[in-house]
Parts: sequence; structure tokens; C-alpha cells
Amino acid sequence: MCNNFCVLLGKKFSCDQCPARFENYDDLIKHAREVHHHAIVRCQDCGKEFIHEKDRLHHVRQEHVKKTRFRENKNLYRHDV
Ligand SMILES: [Zn+2]
Ligand SMILES: [Zn+2]
Repeated sequence: MCNNFCVLLGKKFSCDQCPARFENYDDLIKHAREVHHHAIVRCQDCGKEFIHEKDRLHHVRQEHVKKTRFRENKNLYRHDV
């Protein structure tokens, strides 16, 4: 029975509402939505889904704000679609 136990220990994302743990954030979101009917927030820029508004804000800050600034500063690498 060590197998299950050890696998559980290695999983990084744990559910707020039950002891379930997941290796991928996507799996956790799926679980929260399907099992707990948790409201999911979605990034308006890329469509990525998050469980908490603060996670989405963090993502926007990390992924989009920086890149937007980078684009503004470095016009050398323009390849707008
Ligand atoms: Zn859960
Ligand atoms: Zn995004």
C-alpha cells in the first residue's frame, strides 16, 4: 500500500475542500469544478483557468504584465499576428 501513499506525497496541488491532491493544476481545477462545483475564474488574455481570483491576478502579473512591458520596451522583436 506504500504505492498510493508515496504517490500522494509527491503531488503538489491540494484541494481546499477535501484531501485530494493533484500533480497538475489543471487536474485540480477539473476536480474543483466537477466535484465541488467551484466557480472557476478565467484569464481574459489567454483563457487559462484558475480556482482563486488571487491566482488569476498572480498569473496576469507574472505572464502578461511583464510581457506587455517587454514588448513595449523591445520593439526589435515585433512579429504581431
Ligand atoms: Zn476536493
Ligand atoms: Zn493569461
